[in-house]
Amino acid sequence: MNNITMYGADWCPDCRRAKAFLKENNISYDHIDVDLNKEATKKVENINNGKRIIPTLIIDGKSLTNPDNAKLSAVLGINDGYRIVLYGADWCPDCRKSKAFLTDNKINFQYIEIDKEENKWAIPMIKELNNGKRKIPTIIINDDIVLVEPENEELRQALNIDAVKEEKVYDTIIIGGGAAGLTTSIYAQRDRFDTLILEKKTIGGNAFLTEKIENYPGFTSISGPALMDKMEEQARVYGATIKTGEEVVSIVKNDNLFDVATKTSTYQAKSVVLSTGSTYRKLNIPGEQELIGSGVHFCATCDGAFYRDRDIVVVGGGNSALEEGIFLSGFVKSVKIVNIMPEFSASETYIEKLSEIDNISTHMNKTSVEFVSDSKGKFEGIKVRDNVTNVEEVIPADGAFIFIGLIPNTNAFKEVIELNERGFVKTKGLAETSVPGIFAAGDLREGAIAQVAAATGEGVLASYGIREYLKS
Ligand SMILES: Cc1cc2nc3c(=O)[nH]c(=O)nc-3n(C[C@H](O)[C@H](O)[C@H](O)COP(=O)(O)OP(=O)(O)OC[C@H]3O[C@@H](n4cnc5c(N)ncnc54)[C@H](O)[C@@H]3O)c2cc1C
Repeated sequence: MNNITMYGADWCPDCRRAKAFLKENNISYDHIDVDLNKEATKKVENINNGKRIIPTLIIDGKSLTNPDNAKLSAVLGINDGYRIVLYGADWCPDCRKSKAFLTDNKINFQYIEIDKEENKWAIPMIKELNNGKRKIPTIIINDDIVLVEPENEELRQALNIDAVKEEKVYDTIIIGGGAAGLTTSIYAQRDRFDTLILEKKTIGGNAFLTEKIENYPGFTSISGPALMDKMEEQARVYGATIKTGEEVVSIVKNDNLFDVATKTSTYQAKSVVLSTGSTYRKLNIPGEQELIGSGVHFCATCDGAFYRDRDIVVVGGGNSALEEGIFLSGFVKSVKIVNIMPEFSASETYIEKLSEIDNISTHMNKTSVEFVSDSKGKFEGIKVRDNVTNVEEVIPADGAFIFIGLIPNTNAFKEVIELNERGFVKTKGLAETSVPGIFAAGDLREGAIAQVAAATGEGVLASYGIREYLKS
């Protein structure tokens, strides 16, 4: 569905050209003849600083003055033989990932930001396509193929984008574009080493998902996205190559070079830095898997907005649980924190803050047993068991957020380097792993402190490791 109005006139050649282009691409639009409508003439003049330029188009609330066909293609997502419309929101990390992938591959797509007033019409359509769920990104190709929250590999296949093997040999390939990876890259680039960052999703890592960071030196308070945007900008300014949507699946050492394969391409480097961080741990209780994304969530900044003025449960008792619970309490109706332990393990600052917030209540020493939903699969609450009395109860809520720790993202490297029994990478000296030339920095490393400042420090250490290794 489109929201396009064209202001034009029959005698105007560019209007005819634009109309023909839309028709050829089966795109419907409203046409208003400025010669017959004084209001329309005024509108065109207002848009164009008093000038009467036609065609003037309004596409999803944005005006375009006499766009050529290339501009129309870019705005409407028209490519050679197919058209792509991406429904998403600016706050949604998976939307950023898909947008970056399409942009990196020079594919036109029309972006419809569903949170904008003029695009509200898209929400019921998305829900209808997704069994009543508001899932984004939803990507429609040729009004026909619907891809919901696709991985880049799925998009690659749907759009017939060729897998590539790049010929260039980088000094170092950094796997993971969070705080550790970006810092390594900034330091290595300044040492004149040519770095490539391969990032599975979008640049920024876990810090990007955090609403507020209050313990990164230099900033009393900064949003995660703002901090990570600065780090990304710095890496780019110093010349790092960044490829997003590239999940590394294997590393093979051939002589002195490493072949680093993603699902779509293979890259070569003289050294490698692993900085893939860690992922949210699940509760692994009944109901969890089925409700992920539609009642059960792991990222407050990603999904919290869906629960404005509603009741939610937060599961966990450490820093992340309390920090995110406090953040959510700012706009939801109520937050009930369920903690398996009798005391919180979070730092005192968070515990003190909790006591000052009226709409947060705590349910201590309770084990989460099951997520409960109604006959239609709609989330209803969480069943918990009291660890002392064994009494079970259902805590009713509209959604739940789980923050119970992290597991390292090291599966792809387990055959290559030495990991500890929990899957964290063992390192020594200057962030060196068990394989010379492969370094590890950040939350995936054994003993990591799991803080942004610590991850950046580890990135510095890895860059020194690379320098020593490449010079030897
Ligand atoms: C909810 C929450 C709140 C937090 N709040 C704070 C805070 O207030 N202050 C603070 O200091 N710290 C905070 N942290 C911790 C902080 O975010 C992490 O310590 C930091 O992000 C670690 O950086 P990293 O670079 O090691 O890993 P990450 O930030 O996890 O980055 C790793 C990157 O690697 C990518 N990746 C994973 N696997 C692959 C693969 N196979 N191929 C390619 N790329 C891959 C991931 O997509 C990710 O972008 C918080 C964490 C969470 C989860």
